Amino acid sequence: MTTRAPYPPVNGDEPCRHNPDLWFPSTGGDVRPAKEACEGCHVRVECLAFALDHTDPAGYQLSGVWGGTSDTERRQMTVGRTRPLGPINHGTPGGYRSHLRRSEEPCEPCRGAHRDMKAHRRTAAAA
Ligand code: SF4
Repeated sequence: MTTRAPYPPVNGDEPCRHNPDLWFPSTGGDVRPAKEACEGCHVRVECLAFALDHTDPAGYQLSGVWGGTSDTERRQMTVGRTRPLGPINHGTPGGYRSHLRRSEEPCEPCRGAHRDMKAHRRTAAAA
């Protein structure tokens, strides 16, 4: 069984505490179930901020799904991290990611755009 690194503030109710292996799929494994479970987690924003703070410029990062993001997504989020952050394009999936990069809770229009994108992907995957 895989264990997760400790970080505040957790209370044991986080979905990853109950089935941690799902958050560390083997190479090429499906990260979607873990990412979806993270969506409703009470520490999602803090968890993502923790994972981003533990990624260094050389690319070392925590493995697995953290705060609803995969290794690849976090790597993309940290590229050019030293540049100033531009304005948020609200109501878009990119805006949703911009909020998370700032370690802030996405606004409703951005959450809606993220939900729509996920629903579209699910529909496309089911077809
Ligand atoms: S957001 Fe973080 S703490 Fe919450 S379920 Fe996902 S990985 Fe676990």
